[in-house]
Amino acid sequence: MSSLRNFTTMKVGGDPECLIELKKTPHPIWAELPRPIRILGNGSNTLIDDVGLKGTVVVTRDSGLADPAILETSEKGVHVRASSGIFLPRLCRWAARQGLTGLEYMIGVPGTLGGAVVLNAGANGQEAKDSVMAVRGIDLQTGQPFEWVAKDLDWSYRHSRFCHSPDQYWIESVDLLLQPLDSALVDARIEENLLYRKTKTPYQKPSLGSVFTRLPHGDQWYYPGQLIEEVGLKGHRIGDAQVSDVHANYIVNVGQARFEDVIALIKLIENKVLSEKGLTMRREILIWTDRSMI
Ligand SMILES: Cc1cc2nc3c(=O)[nH]c(=O)nc-3n(C[C@H](O)[C@H](O)[C@H](O)COP(=O)(O)OP(=O)(O)OC[C@H]3O[C@@H](n4cnc5c(N)ncnc54)[C@H](O)[C@@H]3O)c2cc1C
Repeated sequence: MSSLRNFTTMKVGGDPECLIELKKTPHPIWAELPRPIRILGNGSNTLIDDVGLKGTVVVTRDSGLADPAILETSEKGVHVRASSGIFLPRLCRWAARQGLTGLEYMIGVPGTLGGAVVLNAGANGQEAKDSVMAVRGIDLQTGQPFEWVAKDLDWSYRHSRFCHSPDQYWIESVDLLLQPLDSALVDARIEENLLYRKTKTPYQKPSLGSVFTRLPHGDQWYYPGQLIEEVGLKGHRIGDAQVSDVHANYIVNVGQARFEDVIALIKLIENKVLSEKGLTMRREILIWTDRSMI
């Protein structure tokens, strides 16, 4: 059960030297854990090597966490604090029940709040940065607590300050500023998002969501799914890793995909798009390996 394949949505990954689940060990002695320490939310954006990893993987996702707390209501909005390990669709439904808007995009994003902050996750015109007020946690290098407000977080598309120094910070909780809205209207937005996503997302098979980010093209974008289709790789399979035939920017695990299969498929896409289109793809997913093969 310690295999990390059980802790990612791609169902790929081996054993770490040390595995800590915060739901079982809520107060680890950080200084004593084997290094590096990697923090894993729901593993929905992270491809993990199946030969295993040195150091510690700390899993934050916990379905037993308490509901978020409402700290204050003012003319600016409703100030909410949530644990980083909360599952995004659960947080989204909670906000709807409270009559709060701002998190409807989370319904189709199978990650945790910590992962959403790190990657500035977004969908349907909303992003994490739109609602995050502040983030608290621990600097794992110094052992000191930190608290940063939104303007310190260096947000951009699928990026935050945490991307500069992976493995350095554990985000413990996130403060959000949400706006009041009738629950029925929030629910309607959630259902609309779900309906839209169901037709475009291969939810039935294990994946990591979009593998590549869109690429700037003047004041427009190149969309990776379209590029992958144009170079003829939609549906292409290496071992049990396959470019989804629902959405070509997803790689799905159609059986027992190995880490190396997924890497080979990613590299094939990158090489073909570069040689046929002259474009360098940018990876949205993160890759955890101690090998120098990526
Ligand atoms: C079917 C599917 C659909 C998806 N749709 C979308 C979408 O529409 N939009 C979108 O933006 N993404 C989407 N994703 C990708 C993914 O769900 C998001 O990026 C999500 O925010 C990742 O959260 P996670 O908890 O799974 O992160 P993980 O993959 O576990 O971790 C991602 C990064 O965050 C760090 N991290 C996680 N938690 C913490 C913490 N508490 N403290 C410090 N660092 C932490 C990790 O170290 C890692 O660097 C999709 C994925 C799937 C499988």
